[in-house]
Amino acid sequence: MKHNFGVKWNQCPHCDYKAKLNSALTQHKANAHNIGVKWKQCPHCEHKAKQTSTLNSHIKCHHT
Ligand SMILES: [Zn+2]
Ligand SMILES: [Zn+2]
Repeated sequence: MKHNFGVKWNQCPHCDYKAKLNSALTQHKANAHNIGVKWKQCPHCEHKAKQTSTLNSHIKCHHT
């Protein structure tokens, strides 16, 4: 039985995090290290948010 042998772990270069899936590592890097984040730009000011929901609450707080 060779369960999980030969799994190529994707090691985060910035911490000890390992992920089986490269996509999970990409997501981790965005969350933990702000790498490869597609920032959502506020249309009303210079504010940037990682997530649309965060941007929406920013707009509600500051621009309504
Ligand atoms: Zn990391
Ligand atoms: Zn704004």
